[in-house]
Amino acid sequence: MIVVKCEGHSFEREIGLILALFEEEPEIRFVTEYIPTNGETYIQLTLQPGEKGVHTLGIIEKGETRFTYDYDRLYLAFDEKSMRKTAKQAISYTLLMLMEQLTGVEQGWGILTGIRPTKLLHQFLSSGMTKEEAHRRLRTDYMVRPYKLELLQKIVDLQLAVVPDFYSIDQELSVYIGIPFCPTKCAYCTFPAYAIKSHTASVNPFLEGLHYEIEQVGAWLKKHDQRITSIYFGGGTPTSITADDMDRLFASIHESFPHMDNVRELTVEAGRPDTITPEKLAVMKKWNVDRISINPQSFTQETLHAIGRHHTVEETIEKYHLAMEMGLRNINMDLIIGLPNEGLAEFTHSLEEVGKLMPASLTVHTLSFKRASEMTQNKERYRVADRDEIRAMMELAEKWTREQGYQPYYLYRQKNILGNLENVGYSMPGQESIYNIMIMEEVQSILGLGCGAVSKLMQPGSGKLTRWPNPKDPKTYNETYRELVKAKLEDMDAIYGGQVAQS
Ligand code: SF4
Repeated sequence: MIVVKCEGHSFEREIGLILALFEEEPEIRFVTEYIPTNGETYIQLTLQPGEKGVHTLGIIEKGETRFTYDYDRLYLAFDEKSMRKTAKQAISYTLLMLMEQLTGVEQGWGILTGIRPTKLLHQFLSSGMTKEEAHRRLRTDYMVRPYKLELLQKIVDLQLAVVPDFYSIDQELSVYIGIPFCPTKCAYCTFPAYAIKSHTASVNPFLEGLHYEIEQVGAWLKKHDQRITSIYFGGGTPTSITADDMDRLFASIHESFPHMDNVRELTVEAGRPDTITPEKLAVMKKWNVDRISINPQSFTQETLHAIGRHHTVEETIEKYHLAMEMGLRNINMDLIIGLPNEGLAEFTHSLEEVGKLMPASLTVHTLSFKRASEMTQNKERYRVADRDEIRAMMELAEKWTREQGYQPYYLYRQKNILGNLENVGYSMPGQESIYNIMIMEEVQSILGLGCGAVSKLMQPGSGKLTRWPNPKDPKTYNETYRELVKAKLEDMDAIYGGQVAQS
């Protein structure tokens, strides 16, 4: 139990976020008066007006141990919103410093609890700050440690090299197409993914709706003479549908979307090796798919079984070679750190196996306990590595990828991620996924079509995003797609407000 007394503020949410960096689901009791009790951690956070800013005083006590921390922070602007933001950050900062002293655990990301640290660095740089100024802000205001700053800068530099028009890419948009079927449902999965065998009756009506959505949205794009940066087929596992159905979908996007010759990248998630066939690979080759994913997650068979992935390790390797032989050579692989019963030994084995294949890119995820997943709901059934081992695996991934010549090119954090670490996309030079950069950095509209697809619509030049979710389940999508497409196009008209036609 952690007992917290706030004076001069009520930033309880921020306090909860910082404490969660140190302890999974911390139990917090906010009090106005405190009587010391053995075994409890007591924190007192006081906020006072300071000279041109705020002054905070923090005290932390546990048993005989006691630390204090004093902090002065200037306002960057004197409007109410900025002053409140400064006060919140000062409280978070003070609490972080106290908790680091008490636990001896250093938080590399400082008080940044959001999921896109790179986005903040891009914002600073695009506002005209030099790298040094931006780093100073991240260090002094957010307590981001130098090794994370170095990682951020490396990623940002690479993104700017891959997408040279990064800061004006909002003149274009990207398209995500969600196919909500998979062979079986993995235990950690919260994506809209329905076991295809028990949903066969939904497949054709879903595809009918998707063709309709592609045609209607394509007509809107043509009318606005809109260029497309990248197209991504995800889900679910898009290769769960038949080769003929895939062929018809590609034909539909080529017919409906404008400027297909200018699309910089077309990706298909073929994540589950058990969905890949020579016929489907031939269809993807025919339509010039640039990039596919074949995801091992782990190279330990027992783990695949435990997480409900009904394919073998050998199948992953075999399908990888088949895709390479058929000319689909830009292949991404995903690995997950912290799968049930996996520690450093199993993860080392997975990396060694990846090393034999050397895919164009490798994404290393850290397992996140999302509320809706089977794993989270039955946590007691799954044994996962502790914080230190997770950290050791992440460090190994960093070292191993560096030694093999991979470079980190995107990064994101999730809530409830084990060890407060991050997911990192590594790639060989020149094999980075443009779509992944677009979706992570939120610098242009992403139009989401199909099941579970969430559009993020951005009026060029505004930086403001409006989320527009499609239904997650095929049944609702199949029943509502006509009204849904109509409403979405009306909203796109309103958001774009005619600007696209002029761009
Ligand atoms: S393959 Fe991917 S989308 Fe399908 S159930 Fe597994 S994690 Fe979810």
